[in-house]
Amino acid sequence: MGEFDLIQRYFKSQSHPSADAVPVGIGDDCAVINPTPGMQWLVSSDMLVEGRHFLSTVAPERLGHKALAVNLSDLAACGATPRAFTLALSLPRVDETFLSGFARGLFALAQAHDIALVGGDTTAGPLNICITVMGEVPRGQALLRSGARVGDDVYVSGQTLGDARLALEVFRGQASLASAAEFEQVRRAMECPQPRAQLGLALRGVAHSAIDVSDGLLGDLGHILKASGVGARLDVDALPRSAVLAGQDLALQREYGLAGGDDYELVFTAPSDAAGRAAVAAAAAASGTPVQRIGAIEAEPGLRLHDAAGLALSAAAFSSFDHFKTP
Ligand code: ADP
Ligand code: MG
Repeated sequence: MGEFDLIQRYFKSQSHPSADAVPVGIGDDCAVINPTPGMQWLVSSDMLVEGRHFLSTVAPERLGHKALAVNLSDLAACGATPRAFTLALSLPRVDETFLSGFARGLFALAQAHDIALVGGDTTAGPLNICITVMGEVPRGQALLRSGARVGDDVYVSGQTLGDARLALEVFRGQASLASAAEFEQVRRAMECPQPRAQLGLALRGVAHSAIDVSDGLLGDLGHILKASGVGARLDVDALPRSAVLAGQDLALQREYGLAGGDDYELVFTAPSDAAGRAAVAAAAAASGTPVQRIGAIEAEPGLRLHDAAGLALSAAAFSSFDHFKTP
């Protein structure tokens, strides 16, 4: 099968954007997209490299899901409505089992989030997937890292922070679980993250700042603190965790929750007065997404960790993932 047959069979044939929104999709030199009047466009790319971002053991369908999910997570963090994406794919060979599974996972998630594939690039080479997503927000309403204010509450979404890292450590032989069912549960967290798109939308006008957790909670919250020129204190024991993670020893629970990475939950800050807390609770309920208050923004720069009893813990012990940092 040639390059153009491949594009047609696995990608173009499954992409049917509305002619109003996307008058020209896959097939020309560029896609042509109509912006919604009054909206700003948000653009973000994420690349997945075999051996670095995913293991060769992942099912193609889950890989297709995850490649788009991590990108949708960036749109969610900014409160953007998904509109369109491109897919740049480097493949070692034309493997039809791989391609059909990959496309199935990709388009299932694309449909669920009403986002259209509008173009891309396909080449031979090491397995590498780069997706660029585009979304919209009403002018001036994007949630940014730079908006945190002293006195804000700090929240994190979901109930499985650290599970993806636990799965990775099980694959690496560094952690063990009680049952195959537990393994499947954490493996799903690693391979099938659910982007918090509805929560991100519901937090527009509610949260002061937001980011998605890809490299670990502390590191990603650190980006908010730096961009906003503030600090924070966190209650380490308030971090949500699954029953599976809660079965590991406490030091591992804390490490994976604080610095595990690959979580794709949202960390955000919002006013701590009664109206602010009610608005966050309403956003969580409207989006069907649990959120947990885990700390507060303070004027003093840096992060201060404490446990449920108020005892200080060192933040330096928990480092986030960095591709270019040598241990
Ligand atoms: P060009 O050579 O002009 O860059 P290509 O021949 O690479 O265009 O691609 C032909 C068309 O197919 C373009 O519209 C491009 O956006 C689209 N395309 C290529 N690869 C993919 C892909 N993996 N997914 C979706 N669309 C793709
Ligand atoms: Mg061209």
